[in-house]
Amino acid sequence: MAQAVKRLFPDVKLGIGPAIDKGFYYDFYRKEPFTPEELEMIEEEMKRIIRENYKIERIEMSKEEAKEILKNEPFKLEILNDIKGDIVSFYKQGEFIDLCEGPHLNFTGEVKFFKLLSVSSSYWKGDEKRESMQRIYGISFETEEELRNYLRFIEEAKERDHRILGKKLDLFSIHPEYGPGLVFWHPKGAIIRKIIEDFWKDIHLKNGYEIVYTPHIADISLWEKSGHLSFYSEYMFPKMEMDENRAYQLKPMNCPFHIQIYTSKLRSYKELPIRWAELGTVYRYEKPGVLHGILRVRGFTQDDAHIFCTLEQLEEEICKIIDLVYFFLKSFGFTEYRVFLSTRPENFVGTIENWEKATKALENALKIKNINYEIDPGEGVFYGPKIDIKIKDCLEREWQCSTIQIDFNIPEKFDIKYIDKDGQFKTPIMIHRAILGSLERFFGILIEHYKGNFPLWLAPEQIRILPLTDKYNDFCQDLKKKFETKFRVGIDLRSEKINKKIRDAEEDKVPYMVIVGEKEIKENKLSLRKHTKGMLGFFTLEEIEKKLNFEIENKM
Ligand code: ZN
Repeated sequence: MAQAVKRLFPDVKLGIGPAIDKGFYYDFYRKEPFTPEELEMIEEEMKRIIRENYKIERIEMSKEEAKEILKNEPFKLEILNDIKGDIVSFYKQGEFIDLCEGPHLNFTGEVKFFKLLSVSSSYWKGDEKRESMQRIYGISFETEEELRNYLRFIEEAKERDHRILGKKLDLFSIHPEYGPGLVFWHPKGAIIRKIIEDFWKDIHLKNGYEIVYTPHIADISLWEKSGHLSFYSEYMFPKMEMDENRAYQLKPMNCPFHIQIYTSKLRSYKELPIRWAELGTVYRYEKPGVLHGILRVRGFTQDDAHIFCTLEQLEEEICKIIDLVYFFLKSFGFTEYRVFLSTRPENFVGTIENWEKATKALENALKIKNINYEIDPGEGVFYGPKIDIKIKDCLEREWQCSTIQIDFNIPEKFDIKYIDKDGQFKTPIMIHRAILGSLERFFGILIEHYKGNFPLWLAPEQIRILPLTDKYNDFCQDLKKKFETKFRVGIDLRSEKINKKIRDAEEDKVPYMVIVGEKEIKENKLSLRKHTKGMLGFFTLEEIEKKLNFEIENKM
């Protein structure tokens, strides 16, 4: 691609061009972005280079020689200066030569089916103060079928994009001028959130958790003590200085607050395990470049919980959390998972003995639950090992939501204790865990997973009543009152043709439509229509209620 760009636009300067998880990109320096027409030209030129089938040669040389070759490529020179050692490698194909570690293919003809996908701008070296580069993304496959499938996947992902559906279905908005990454939940999104929150709280209370609420800000000294100011400050909003000689800090995590509740009285071993859950809203300063719809934001509500327990209780607690995680994920239609166990990193706190015990407890719990897992060596948090659970959505995309983290550090930092059987003060272990991750992100994933077609128990509007003509409006108003005691009901009283009303209800992705005309009133039955499925037939009010209640109860 870089060779093709240089042939067509000789003035363009080369940045970097790595292979990435999904394909490849190259950063080019030029003022104006590449147009779709130019991308097509580049693709044509690439096909020519493939046909010309150049041998790709690796050439090693000294940095001095390299400087001469790169004298007109300022960005490459910068990279060259950053490379340690005296010898560097180049790859040459035809007239084109590029600084690269390799490896490369042997001939340009080995490239088979490819497509340039998009252009975006990015800062050189990710630095906002540096030049703005034009980044071209592409993908390549060995077979045409694989490429076709991938392009279809991209199309499908575009149609499911939560940012587009969020606007179309009036679920949420973001107002970057008043704060990038801050989410405004509209009534239709908010009702879904309320259903999720109620369900979440209800299930937690049934599973031995207690619900707590904590403030959004606290005196800066709390964050000094917790260590956040030293290891997490780049993600924290600046402190707020107040004239009462205090400085406050917005919370990036809920943990230090739950610790305060713990320390508010003397604790006995009899109270353990203590399980406190909070839908806690936190603020983190994410870099502008990583913000993405409601998937990556600056203010979000974690479905957080902290468990205080003894080392002996650890394994059982982890088993219980795993059960809860799987219960929730299944309820939202996710049935495929990938589980990772992250072990001790190079920099860690606590004793190796404790780390091993905690890792063993996590591992045992996974074995008891018969869960296949992969080990992520050294990827634990500095304060303890963890289990991460990734879900697969209907496009097979993986999302990391649930996490179970063991922490030896923070209980020691805050010196929290309980009185054990033997009358001795001992330090409990703390488990941090989230199941959905954050309500914002999880909602974004749900929108894409369901393509906005929420199952009945989540749908903001479950039924819409459609009078055939204005004549039936009064009857429909009464019907709405009957349905309303049990369901979320809408009504379309516009003087539109019934086909238009149906089309709009379909567009709004309302799961059920009830149509009322002369026949329905005479026979005392209602026409029931299902979103994307069409007419289901005639039913009595009771039959419809029964059918819908069954779906809601079973979260279908
Ligand atoms: Zn925590």
